[in-house]
Amino acid sequence: MLYISPETIDAIIAHAHSEAPLEACGYLAEKEGIVVRHYPLTNVDASPEHFSLAPKEQFAAVRKMRSQGLRLRAIYHSHPASEARPSEEDIRLAYDPDISYVIVSLKEGNDVVRSFRIRAAQVEQEDMEIVAQFPVGRTPQENKQQRSNRT
Ligand SMILES: [Zn+2]
Repeated sequence: MLYISPETIDAIIAHAHSEAPLEACGYLAEKEGIVVRHYPLTNVDASPEHFSLAPKEQFAAVRKMRSQGLRLRAIYHSHPASEARPSEEDIRLAYDPDISYVIVSLKEGNDVVRSFRIRAAQVEQEDMEIVAQFPVGRTPQENKQQRSNRT
C-alpha cells in the first residue's frame, strides 16, 4: 500500500504536465509512512517515451531527503501519451524491489496515477491511498484497522 498526500499527487501531476510531451521523473519520499514530498529530477533522455535520472541530482535529492528526516519511497515518472502501466523498458530498468514505481499517465487528457512493485521482471500493481495525515501516534496499520472497524 502506498500512502500519499493530496499535495504530492497534485504536484507530480503538475510536474508531468509541465514537461509534456516529454516524460517527467523524480523521487518520492515518505515521512512516518506517508509520501509527503516529491523531488523533481531532470529527465536526461529528454524523451516522450523514456527517462533516465541525472545521477548528480539523485545523490543531491537523497542527501536532502535524509537531512529532512525523509526516506526514499518511490520513483515516479510520467507517460504523456500512454497508459499508467510500466513499459517493457521500465520493467527492464527497474532495479530496486524495495521501492515503488509510480506512473502518472496524461493519456487523452485523463490524469491517472498508479503505483507498482517490480521484482525480477514481475509487475504488481500496488494499492494507493491519498491521505493528508494519520492521527498522531497511530501507525498506518492501526489506522487502517480502525477504518475497517467503522464500516
Ligand atoms: Zn515508463
